[in-house]
Amino acid sequence: MNIVHAAAEIHPLVKTGGLADVVAALPPALLRAGADARVIVPGYPAIMRALHAAHAVTEFGPRFNAPQVTLRYGRLEGVAVGAYVIDAPALYDRAGGPYDAADGWAYGDNLQRFALLGYAAAKLGAGADPLWRPDVVHAHDWHAGLAPAYMAADPANTAKSVFTIHNLAYQGNFWEGEFHKLGLPDAFMRPYGGMEFWRQVSFMKAGIVFGRRIGTVSPTYAREITTAEFGCSLDSVLRERAADLRGILNGIDTDLWNPVNDPHCAAAYDRTNLAGKHACKLALQREFGLEERKDALLFGVVTRLSHQKGLDLLLGALPTLLASGAQLVMLGAGDPQLEHGFRSAAQAHASRIGVRIGYDEGLAHRIVAGADSIMVPSRFEPCGLTQLYGLRYGTLPFVRRTGGLADSVDERVGFFCGPPETAIHETIKRAVTLHRDPDRWQTMMVEAMGREHDWSSSAQRYLQLYAE
Ligand code: ADP
Repeated sequence: MNIVHAAAEIHPLVKTGGLADVVAALPPALLRAGADARVIVPGYPAIMRALHAAHAVTEFGPRFNAPQVTLRYGRLEGVAVGAYVIDAPALYDRAGGPYDAADGWAYGDNLQRFALLGYAAAKLGAGADPLWRPDVVHAHDWHAGLAPAYMAADPANTAKSVFTIHNLAYQGNFWEGEFHKLGLPDAFMRPYGGMEFWRQVSFMKAGIVFGRRIGTVSPTYAREITTAEFGCSLDSVLRERAADLRGILNGIDTDLWNPVNDPHCAAAYDRTNLAGKHACKLALQREFGLEERKDALLFGVVTRLSHQKGLDLLLGALPTLLASGAQLVMLGAGDPQLEHGFRSAAQAHASRIGVRIGYDEGLAHRIVAGADSIMVPSRFEPCGLTQLYGLRYGTLPFVRRTGGLADSVDERVGFFCGPPETAIHETIKRAVTLHRDPDRWQTMMVEAMGREHDWSSSAQRYLQLYAE
């Protein structure tokens, strides 16, 4: 079976979150499971620089304001499967991030930029590459949400579409007056059975309505998004599609995230020899200028700073954390108020709280390895990867019972800090008390490190979904 994955991010070239990790790791896992998988991504500068051994597959001519679009196929440095790259400099050759300019504002033409991603992926399903044709076009998140729509609009397109929701809160909604720019049938722009969402064009809704199957990244989140509380106003649409909706927990790249040989870390360790973990902890405390104390529970956080991630709850609980004798290191960027709040806390308690604002892959590994417990107090979490990295590194997850956190953590390997929101205080105290008993803590670490979260079983579930 041939599968092409359409996405706006891919690790290690373009990443703003877990989507990039999944798009890099799932296709090779499908290869190992016996399928043939490729990816299709926009030709941002980082992608064009990494592309080699490429040939032009087809030209699309002027599309979506780009005078020229060339679909190329080749290898991307650091990516384990073959890649189609959409070479359209007018849309993608920009200095900023994948979605936003350097000043933080979304590009004004994101509708066109990501319509082209869906369009090109759909064209592959229709046979744009004479040498390789996908049976399934697997579109990820709103950026690729139009692929199922373009496929549904073309009766000659024989491939089937799968649409995966990585985060329902980001929907790709645009002014309804722009619909005509998409070249889709007028009938697609309606509220029932179409992609109109409160008089907007919704790429996310298009994926949900037109995808032959819909997936999301954990079983609990698959249930949650059909409720008003978590459904981001799309819950009724998702309830209608409930029979075709599947929740498949993400795996992690166990080569990239491996305490046995992590090049970013001070020392190596595994579940039979944890001495290296203590060395990683001391190195981390040193790196952040904290008191180098083995006995203090060191909490770690690696995150986007957004309301979703619940870091305001942690900020509010810092007095409890400090009173209980614990320490905290945090790496994150995003909401300026939260950045300010954590910076101030670190200034006021420099020996106990360390904060780095920014994005730093190596430091993320050192925090996951060196902390005793990794905090993910998210209000909602489709899957979450950091708690999975934590499990693998014996760094006990401290999470809210929601989405993929509820599906991957239990009391034998971690801590639940709610809901309700006030529970975080009690849970911090509970974790600190338990940490004073090194034998019990170590039992949990060893149990956590024994949990399997590689991609093999999830890849099998995706293959079953494709087979349907
Ligand atoms: P989301 O996609 O909602 O941000 P996930 O837990 O699914 O959350 O994935 C987050 C990914 O991004 C993980 O690989 C995590 O290590 C990484 N990450 C998040 N923030 C940072 C940061 N500031 N520096 C380095 N890596 C980060």
